[in-house]
Amino acid sequence: MTFIEKQTDPTAPTHWRGNMQADYFYSNGVAGDKLFKYIKNNDGFLATPCKKCNKVLFPPRMYCENCFEEIPEDQWIQVPATGTVRLFTIATINAHGEKMKEPKIMALINIDETDGALLGVINAKEWEKDYTDLKVKAIFKSKEEREGTLKDILYWNIIS
Ligand SMILES: [Zn+2]
Repeated sequence: MTFIEKQTDPTAPTHWRGNMQADYFYSNGVAGDKLFKYIKNNDGFLATPCKKCNKVLFPPRMYCENCFEEIPEDQWIQVPATGTVRLFTIATINAHGEKMKEPKIMALINIDETDGALLGVINAKEWEKDYTDLKVKAIFKSKEEREGTLKDILYWNIIS
């Protein structure tokens, strides 16, 4: 790839084919760090209620993403690791584009007592079933195996 062509016409875009390494680091931030430390030692989650607009933020935030109100640490609350399936899809290929041995049911789960949601894997194998609006519960690794990440959630069991 070279850049020896001189661009004189801004309406004539050019392109180069090639590969570019793109490494990145995403920090958990103060609120994310506190949530992951909590998950490491508890079978539940933390959330941050906003007193100004009454939203309960999950994942927790230092500032309300709706009205920008600061949420002091003494207002954080514990919430259960249960929720309701809002959307789901059946995944048959992994993040690398490779076919998986067995499909996975991936769902967006509204976390109970909050206005937030998490993505998770539903522990089920009925590929034709509609999982929308079912209640689910997070099943965590044993506390000895946890690392303080979302991977500490093994999957979500259907509870009703
Ligand atoms: Zn707010």
